[in-house]
Amino acid sequence: MTDDASFGVLEFAVDHLPDLVAVFDTNQICVLCNAPFREASPERSCVGKEIGDLCEDVERGDYLRTMLRSSLGGVQDEYTFKDAVFGAAPHRSIRTLPYPDAENANYAVLIATDTNAQSGINDKLYNYEYQDPTTGLLNRRSLQVVLERELIRSMRGKDDGHAVAVLFVMLKDFKHINQVHGHQIGDLLLENTGLRIRDTVRKSDYVFRWEGTNLIVLLPDITQVTDAALVAEKIHNVVSVPYRFNNVDVAPRCYIGISVYPDDSSRAEDLVNRANSAVIESEKQELPFLMYDETLHQSSIERLVMRTSLMRAFEQDELKLYFQPICTIDGHVAGAEALIRWEHPQRGLLGPDEFIELAEDTRLIGPIDKVALYQSCRFLAHLLERYPDFFLSLNMSATDLSDNHLVSVVQRAMQATSLVQTHRLKLEITESRSMQAARISLDAMQELTDLGVDVWIDDFGTGMSSLSYLKYLPATTVKIDREFAMDVGENEKEAAYLAGIIDMVRARGMDCIVEGVSTFDQFEHIRNMSADYLQGYYFAKPMAPEKLEELLAGSRKLPNDGTT
Ligand code: C2E
Ligand code: CA
Ligand code: CA
Repeated sequence: MTDDASFGVLEFAVDHLPDLVAVFDTNQICVLCNAPFREASPERSCVGKEIGDLCEDVERGDYLRTMLRSSLGGVQDEYTFKDAVFGAAPHRSIRTLPYPDAENANYAVLIATDTNAQSGINDKLYNYEYQDPTTGLLNRRSLQVVLERELIRSMRGKDDGHAVAVLFVMLKDFKHINQVHGHQIGDLLLENTGLRIRDTVRKSDYVFRWEGTNLIVLLPDITQVTDAALVAEKIHNVVSVPYRFNNVDVAPRCYIGISVYPDDSSRAEDLVNRANSAVIESEKQELPFLMYDETLHQSSIERLVMRTSLMRAFEQDELKLYFQPICTIDGHVAGAEALIRWEHPQRGLLGPDEFIELAEDTRLIGPIDKVALYQSCRFLAHLLERYPDFFLSLNMSATDLSDNHLVSVVQRAMQATSLVQTHRLKLEITESRSMQAARISLDAMQELTDLGVDVWIDDFGTGMSSLSYLKYLPATTVKIDREFAMDVGENEKEAAYLAGIIDMVRARGMDCIVEGVSTFDQFEHIRNMSADYLQGYYFAKPMAPEKLEELLAGSRKLPNDGTT
């Protein structure tokens, strides 16, 4: 702060924020707070109190403490609780930010936001002032307000790679429809088409009537710019489904032009203009949709083609599970990890790196993982008849985990395949993704555990998060990312580092698997550490199920270098 007067003004301003704001020192003791925070606190005196005393619920206090600790360590954290955190204040969404002071004393700032109040803004938009009377969609004026706001929001989080897309939807043939069927029918059809589009896009997307029969769809939060093309395709399909009037089918045609932030512009007006010029071009070329940027358009089309062939692959059973053995230190095959492969008719055997990401983005991952789940359960039930101590692990995407039905899907798969030894099935969840989604998926993990299925943390050590998070996860086993095994041969420090991580995981009472052990040299280093299981090319590469059965029927020992 430069001088006391300006500080006073700032303090006054902060006191009038709707958010609760407080500053904490290295012992998580409150040193400053604004008036709303004070009012929310049960005793009205916050300064000098530890975070746990300010939040009545012990577990939440613990959680807030870890958030503050990470921010004191320089990391920003964010979490939305199920309900209010501080007393009666409805604020559920908490952010903690690091504030490193020049004189070595670190502070962390905590900001609590009332998320319901924010959603109120959207409700407000849907009043008459912002609504188009004919279609009930948002009007042109509200586009300005919303687009500006979404761009600012996106710019703030510009490092997270999210994009905003503007889809200019030009509906054709309405002139003709009005002439033949009358204006009333025309209006009804327009209203209905708007509704169809709204039902097609996500709840968090917006549909506006720009003018006449031109609509604008705003996608404020897409992970990849090419996703805009997927949405455009869906809109195009849903608009072309014909309506039936007086025994004739009426189907409006539509063209869609797309512009995206940040690639095409960061100004609202430019984005609309570019989407507009793209739609004019798409009409000229008679393409269902066109992106403003040619290169983006090309890569979107490639993705669409890949998605279509992935869907076909899925329908025609070209997706197969391979199995990579998981061994004890002395090479006994204790279990295996199921890894998906695409037996592509032209391109040969494709690894998941070539299609899993696309599957995740296009929401095909759910169905794919479901098939993998059924296949694994069936195969495991079969293997357990002869090898009752065997286990199988399966990769689950975080998208699956946030699906409310996952637990019942797993339950049904086990019933359908007569898999009764539930604890022989393990579900691997990638650390980084699960950590981000952990907050929503902790309950799901717990329910799976209650069902008797073990949850494993995959690729441990690659994300931002630390060992302290493990405490909060109902997981039984941690798989240490293959990066660590690869580095082990380089120098003693790397080896000591890996040994340390293994010990810490085990100190948490969890089993530890080191993956990616690919050479004898690496194995030599790792065999003396205290890992429970090892996995990697040194023992065996992923193999077809028949091969795994052969291995189990034989010596059940690896590496299979002819000596056994
Ligand atoms: P992941 O779960 O970490 O799987 C281990 C990957 O490391 C596998 O690659 C495996 O072939 C490879 N690997 C094993 N040992 C070694 C080694 O010694 N050296 C090297 N360089 N690599 C080794 P893959 O099969 O290509 O799988 C890649 C990723 O795809 C998996 O990583 C997993 O995250 C995902 N994935 C695979 N199958 C499925 C699935 O059915 N569903 C979902 N959601 N994801 C899957
Ligand atoms: Ca895995
Ligand atoms: Ca892994």
